[in-house]
Amino acid sequence: MEHSKGRRLILFALPLQGHIVPMLELANLLHFKGFSITVVSTQFNKLNPSSYPHLTFDFIDEGLTESEASTNDLVHLISLLNEKCAQPFKECLVNLLSDVSKEPVACLITDLRFHFTQPLAKSFNLPRLLLRTGGASSLVVYIAFPHLHEKGYLPKQDSRLEEPVKGFPPLKVRDLPNIHTKDPEQYFQMVAGRLRDETEASQGLIINTFEDIEGKALIRIRDEFPVPIFGVGPFHKPFPTTTSSGPGSSVSLPQDQSCISWLNTQAPKSVIYAGFGSLAAISEEQFLELAWGLANSNQPFLWVVRPGFVQGAEWLEALPNGFLEALNGRGHIVKWAPQKAVLAHPAVGAFWTHCGWNSTLECICEGVPMICMPCSADQMMNARYISDVWKVGLQLDHGKERGGIVKTIRKLMVEKEGKEIRNNMSDLTKKADLCFKPGGSSYECLEGLVKHICSLDS
Ligand code: UDP
Repeated sequence: MEHSKGRRLILFALPLQGHIVPMLELANLLHFKGFSITVVSTQFNKLNPSSYPHLTFDFIDEGLTESEASTNDLVHLISLLNEKCAQPFKECLVNLLSDVSKEPVACLITDLRFHFTQPLAKSFNLPRLLLRTGGASSLVVYIAFPHLHEKGYLPKQDSRLEEPVKGFPPLKVRDLPNIHTKDPEQYFQMVAGRLRDETEASQGLIINTFEDIEGKALIRIRDEFPVPIFGVGPFHKPFPTTTSSGPGSSVSLPQDQSCISWLNTQAPKSVIYAGFGSLAAISEEQFLELAWGLANSNQPFLWVVRPGFVQGAEWLEALPNGFLEALNGRGHIVKWAPQKAVLAHPAVGAFWTHCGWNSTLECICEGVPMICMPCSADQMMNARYISDVWKVGLQLDHGKERGGIVKTIRKLMVEKEGKEIRNNMSDLTKKADLCFKPGGSSYECLEGLVKHICSLDS
């Protein structure tokens, strides 16, 4: 602790919900270990410092236009952010590094996808660590992109979807990332070309995971890279879950606290919580299948329908008139939930999820079995681990179709298969509890990370 005191860390998250949450949770962890923390935020998805009085904030104006900010092409958005943040972040860094009123800066911790920070940090002779906000198993796949490309697994071909990906059990071709961008070459460049070089050029890689779920992948990554790899997750585990703001709160939407009062009226383990993260979007037709699947399951449900979740709609207008009223209080729909508090609520019996990595870890920590409906990026790989490796959830039987949805919900919540899955989940949750106790893998790795950071400037 005494070594970390008197040292400041600069943290710079990619400004997307699923990247901001773990960066702020990491900030909490490192602050808890004694470091002073400055978080740099963009104007796009600007952070609200009032929720984090223990952290210092600095803001840059990257000048993203409204139309640039509202694109659905994430690859393009990330590339733009790398371009537009370069100059303002450099100026911000000059100020932070020359500010003698504050503690000296020990290192910069940036998102793995902020490529431009590598030459910049080098030019300032500033040690730079990377944060991987997703899992280690999916990172192994991203690192192997050139190989998967060469072997013809990527881009995915419909005729090969059920084929196992050689060397990457238990993945099938269908689990590999979809490449939704107008410029696939840019994507390959960004993921494959830079990932390896920049990780090698960094002073270490921090991953929001723990040995019990991704020990094999961590070994593989350690074999690949000559830099220290720290699996110190789940980052939020050491802190109590609250219903208030904090890293779970949306960058643009308030958390709807009516979720908790509604859950208070429901029987233990009876509710399906359906939530699909901050980016996933589905067609109106699919939305109606989900709605009827929930309604026909006969279980109570709490459903987060984010504005933007239904393509081409404002919010719920595609639902038939009187849909919710006909359920007599069995369904509750909100725009944004205090997700961690919802998962921790005793009334919740299953999480129907898109398998975003943060949602997956949050769910494991709270011991709630999952129904997987992956949509893009690493989510299909996470879903495969959930259903086939840890065996703590089920994949939807027939895609997004009401009959299959009802069948899967009943299988998980009522039938024998669900009991086994709940037992497996309860074992995994115990492991997550232990990993941050003295001697646990994340506890030890965090100690190692603190020592490593303290050694960087000595
Ligand atoms: N989240 C939340 N309320 C919601 C939906 C999501 O607090 O109604 C949080 C969730 O707890 C998680 C993050 O937003 O921390 C979503 O990250 P994830 O990696 O699961 O998915 P992404 O949004 O990146 O697809």
